Amino acid sequence: MVKYVYDFSEGNKSMKDLLGGKGANLAEMTRLGLPVPPGFTISTEACRAYLKDGSVPDTLETEVTAALRSVEDTMGRQLGAGDDPLLVSVRSGAKFSMPGMMETVLNIGLNDESVEGLTKVSGSERFAWDSYRRLIQMFGKTVLDIDGDLFSDALDSLKKERGVEADVDLTAEDMRTLVDTFKKIVRDETGEDFPQDPRTQMDMATEAVFRSWNTERARIYRRRERIPDDLGTAVNICTMVFGNMGDTSGTGVCFTRDPSTGHSGVYGDYLPNAQGEDVVAGIRNTLQLSALEERDPKSYQELRAIMRKLETHYRDLCDIEFTIERGKLWMLQTRVGKRTAAAAFRVATQLVDEKMITRDEALGRVTGDQLTQLMFPQFDASAQKELIARGMPASPGAAVGKIVFDNAQAEAAARDGVKCVLVRRETNPDDLPGMVAAEGVLTARGGKTSHAAVVARGMGKTAVVGADALDIDAAAGTVKVDGHVLTSEDTIGIDGSTGEIFLGDVPVSDSPVTTYLSHGLEAGLEVAGDDADMRELIAAVDRILVHADEVRRLHVRANADTPEDSRRALEFGAEGIGLCRTEHMFLGDRRPLVERAILSEAGSKDRQDAFDELEKLQKQDFLEMLEVMDDKSMTVRLIDPPLHEFLPDLTSMEIKFAVAKAKGETVDPADEKMLATVRRMHEDNPMLGLRGVRLGIYLPGLFELQIRALCEAAAELVARGLHPHPEVMVPLVASERELQLIRESAEEIIAAVSKDKNVDLSGVTIGAMIELPRAAMTAEDLAHAADFFSFGTNDLTQTAWGFSRDDVEGVFFPEYIDAGIFGVSPFETIDQHGVGALVREGVERARSTKPEIKLGVCGEHGGDPASIHFFSKVGLNYVSCSPFRVPVARLEAGRAAVASEEN
Ligand code: PEP
Ligand code: MG
Repeated sequence: MVKYVYDFSEGNKSMKDLLGGKGANLAEMTRLGLPVPPGFTISTEACRAYLKDGSVPDTLETEVTAALRSVEDTMGRQLGAGDDPLLVSVRSGAKFSMPGMMETVLNIGLNDESVEGLTKVSGSERFAWDSYRRLIQMFGKTVLDIDGDLFSDALDSLKKERGVEADVDLTAEDMRTLVDTFKKIVRDETGEDFPQDPRTQMDMATEAVFRSWNTERARIYRRRERIPDDLGTAVNICTMVFGNMGDTSGTGVCFTRDPSTGHSGVYGDYLPNAQGEDVVAGIRNTLQLSALEERDPKSYQELRAIMRKLETHYRDLCDIEFTIERGKLWMLQTRVGKRTAAAAFRVATQLVDEKMITRDEALGRVTGDQLTQLMFPQFDASAQKELIARGMPASPGAAVGKIVFDNAQAEAAARDGVKCVLVRRETNPDDLPGMVAAEGVLTARGGKTSHAAVVARGMGKTAVVGADALDIDAAAGTVKVDGHVLTSEDTIGIDGSTGEIFLGDVPVSDSPVTTYLSHGLEAGLEVAGDDADMRELIAAVDRILVHADEVRRLHVRANADTPEDSRRALEFGAEGIGLCRTEHMFLGDRRPLVERAILSEAGSKDRQDAFDELEKLQKQDFLEMLEVMDDKSMTVRLIDPPLHEFLPDLTSMEIKFAVAKAKGETVDPADEKMLATVRRMHEDNPMLGLRGVRLGIYLPGLFELQIRALCEAAAELVARGLHPHPEVMVPLVASERELQLIRESAEEIIAAVSKDKNVDLSGVTIGAMIELPRAAMTAEDLAHAADFFSFGTNDLTQTAWGFSRDDVEGVFFPEYIDAGIFGVSPFETIDQHGVGALVREGVERARSTKPEIKLGVCGEHGGDPASIHFFSKVGLNYVSCSPFRVPVARLEAGRAAVASEEN
């Protein structure tokens, strides 16, 4: 028989799955002998059964009876008894904290009879009737689904009638009146009387808590916090203790350390003569915890001792809720406390210094997301800001600048030293120069993996996307939003961590943590100056990151295709370049050359001239990058163009021709030929068209010019005494034969350049990207022709799901996430079950042929914390991510290593 109910004395802190966080910690405190009011927890399993069947499991009621009787025996009182009633609270408590998302009902057990008993034992009629009206109010709203305003309006009008401001000014008689009014509301709204039977109250409240798991706001919260929908909540039923029984009573919250700096001390708030909900509701001003020392030294000393005991036991910062009932201290809740990103790093190293935790454990106490938060510039929290719209937070940070609408304006502003924000309906590769010049990017369309979002994240540039309240007219140079018509004269601020858009020049400050990460400890400390907290933070980040580097198994490389990005990547600790995308080197003013090469006839002089020109330019690109990287590996991916980005636009060509013909103008035969070619090469679905290795085979000479340029650049650097390590990577391979063909010509070129320049280039390796399911499933064959593989999880996700990234994310992903098809976009975090399985399969197959083959990943997922843990687990050798993500990847790779040791 399944056990659904656990007395607080039966559980412990490791049982969060079953008892929820609150229940597990209440049990742990009970085990430690701390003063926890007796109670029991109904498990999440019971909730799951209820949600599945629509009713509580058969055996639950009898189990609850046994647990309740045991509590009654301990307390020597019975639930809702007329003379001296036991009252209980019924609270939700899921595995992960979901503050304010689910329900609580207090004072269960009060009815027309027991309220008299409570009056007698408490000696306060007002207190007893206030408790009763609170029960009807909470029960009515939470359990019976009555509009809560009906109760609060009734309370307000009574206060008005009595001419008083605060609830506390109402008399016992007033509370009796309110109970009558509230009961009437219940009857009017539900057609039934407020239930007088205490056990019925308790059972109904339990079911209401179960149901509250699935409220709209709880679902939305879970989606945002990535909490699975199928966990369910536990229900904690706990003896009521009252902080509102006069001046020797009260309630409070405290932390064992300061949750924003991590420093030890007495941090907390106390509210005399009040219940917990009064503290949370902020109705009255709280006192500092230290004030308790004078009011009630005994309880204060006891609380301090418990705080220390809990921190020693949990070996972490704890937060605690307590109540004092007539001079007796009760512990109502504790948990490992939430903290700011900065405090997480500080507390972790403080605890290492205090020899409370090991360095491995310290690594487990911080996250890559927290490090990211510390790396971005931020808006000054104290500054006045005018919020004008919101979009999706796509790439964190705070950017402020004049509005610009295109590349020319952005570049002009940058030249004049004017900060600007590029505002566009959406972006495409042509907007790159503007994105580079601007402080941040704001778009009206697109999702978190739209071009703007992906590229901005790659550049570490702030971006807010999909702000659909913006009405952008780039031609007119206006943005209409929130009643304003903004122009290039206006300054806006965008917050890439929240998606907020502000009007005006909001002050921003740089992150000294980023200075440390890119220029070392001394530089970071220098920027921190005499800000002691900041100095401590930088030292803490350094110690934890150094440890991560010591323990991690994954190497970390960067995706970079310019010398500046390569330099930045090295500063951030990259150990090589895992992906240099060469198609970026063919855009801008080189685009016409590529267009000529593609559209000219095979074997023509035109094509050869274009190739020769491109080769010269490519060699220069590689020279610069290889020089920056020197002895570190640099994986150069041969061109993988979305073809349409390099060809003239078919529609506009056709319109031009149609207009010319209609006007009777003669058309240049060369143009006509060009139109025919563009028509022939037009693709309905370029993502699945003439891309990657296919283009290399279709256009002989193209890959070859790149490989030759790379070899010649390497040879030149060798001659200059450097140690270049280029690796040639072939994109979008599906079959061994494709790779073999490219490999053969690459080997010929490597041999030829070696001979010609008299240098040994035998170290130049040749590998492939695994971006197609077929490649993953035949990796044992591909491995014959490859020295290494890099999983291109962007395309692998596209091809495994059959999604075209640019087309799906902004369009139907929100519906998919709402419907629970996935909790987070598979383009952000690897879909372990599907795409991840292909990666795992590819790894195993590749190693079955070549046990030592080097395997990495270079899709966006290479910089995503959850994905990094997966890649570490499946045994990849490296991840490659955008330069700005390198420190995060180092940290997460370290965390993944210690997490796997623990398991
Ligand atoms: C990939 O597909 O994961 C990849 C890195 O290539 P790209 O994003 O350039 O298609
Ligand atoms: Mg790809």
